[in-house]
Amino acid sequence: MRKFTAEISPKMDGEKVKLCGWIHEVRDLGGLIFLILRDREGFAQITLPKKVVDPEVFSKARKIKRESVVEIEGEVKAEEKAPNGFEIIPKKILILNEADTPLPLDVTEKVPAELDTRLDNRFLDLRRPKVQAVFRVRHQVLKSTRDFLCKEGFIEVQTPKIVSTATEGGTELFPVSYFEREAFLNQSPQLYKQMLMSAGFDRVFEIGPIFRAEQHNTTRHLNEATSIDIEVSFTDHEGVMKVLEDLIVYTCESVSNECEKFLKILNVEVEVPEKPFERISYDEALKIASKKEEIPWGEDLSTNALKLIGEEIGNFYFIVDWPTKIKPFYVMPYEEKPEISKSFDLMHSWLELASGAQRIHRYDALVESIRSRGLNPESFQFYLDSFRFGIPPHAGWGLGVERFLMSILKLNNIREATLFPRDRIRLVP
Ligand code: ATP
Ligand code: MG
Repeated sequence: MRKFTAEISPKMDGEKVKLCGWIHEVRDLGGLIFLILRDREGFAQITLPKKVVDPEVFSKARKIKRESVVEIEGEVKAEEKAPNGFEIIPKKILILNEADTPLPLDVTEKVPAELDTRLDNRFLDLRRPKVQAVFRVRHQVLKSTRDFLCKEGFIEVQTPKIVSTATEGGTELFPVSYFEREAFLNQSPQLYKQMLMSAGFDRVFEIGPIFRAEQHNTTRHLNEATSIDIEVSFTDHEGVMKVLEDLIVYTCESVSNECEKFLKILNVEVEVPEKPFERISYDEALKIASKKEEIPWGEDLSTNALKLIGEEIGNFYFIVDWPTKIKPFYVMPYEEKPEISKSFDLMHSWLELASGAQRIHRYDALVESIRSRGLNPESFQFYLDSFRFGIPPHAGWGLGVERFLMSILKLNNIREATLFPRDRIRLVP
């Protein structure tokens, strides 16, 4: 019996319907009241001419407070002047939950608000169609990612988020107390997805949280982000770059086809990129950057350098063959040139979306690589053991969901792409 506003059309003239939602606006013209009802899928105009509707219903409508939750039963009337060509003449209005006043945030978007105020009142902010549209697209991105990877023979897995060691030995870790021991929140599923290659899963993916104790506050870093991770056996970096490229194209296509309504609300068009994506080497990236900035070989590319490279190359592209020493210990160096590695970053303009590589799969080389970073192989023994009794060559990557959304929806701040962002200062809501 209950319908979404988007399920009603002028063709249903005369039909009885029940709608549930929030009172978005009240326009009281004396002898005529208009209520705008908002639900997840859109809006409906509820029209109350004093002479037509029940006096009790009329006086109830007059007193209704914005953002209250209601159930309305009434008759559909085709009406050219109403939004979407119909209005509802109510027979019954039930107030399910009355909203307090004043509202801390204007849901109608007539009064603009700072991002911080919006995030402080996120439950209200999320009621705004423009904000909610981001999460409808996010849903589609995750759905099509799952569809694509399952089609390609991947198995979805979940690995532990409470761990005993740093994935990469960095300092960007959140400690947690684990009974009488210290533990950490995992920065990435890296070690576990590699162990699953030893376990014979062949192709796995995980969509889950990663925790980074990044001290800085930027528009592209969160302290809790969502990562799409894959790991594939019997392949190399080239093999998984192809999977990544195919996934990006598939997802962009599916968002562009399935999210028309939400993209319109957001006023963006999702371009479907052409394969293969352009590839530049780290050395070529340095050369482009050198027009403005001299970066010594072996150092990471600065944001300014990436902006310059992004301007020149644009859209989706790979930066490949990174210096081994600035990539994590598990990344495979080229045999004939061990100072560079079989690694890649997927970029969108200046923004890094994913990092990946072929992995070292020989025990001795891996122990040596861990040592060379000043890390202690003993704390990685649980991981190293899985390399002693038969592990195939393998490769994989991690793709940040929020960064991907930011790039396709042209969002300025990564906080817009997550429901309840965690950053250097924000722990609530
Ligand atoms: P950056 O250099 O941009 O800080 P990173 O190289 O440290 O990123 P990786 O460890 O390569 O990140 O993680 C793989 C992907 O996970 C990144 O390309 C990014 O999309 C996402 N990611 C990593 N850290 C964050 C973060 N703090 N906030 C949001 N997304 C992140
Ligand atoms: Mg990276």
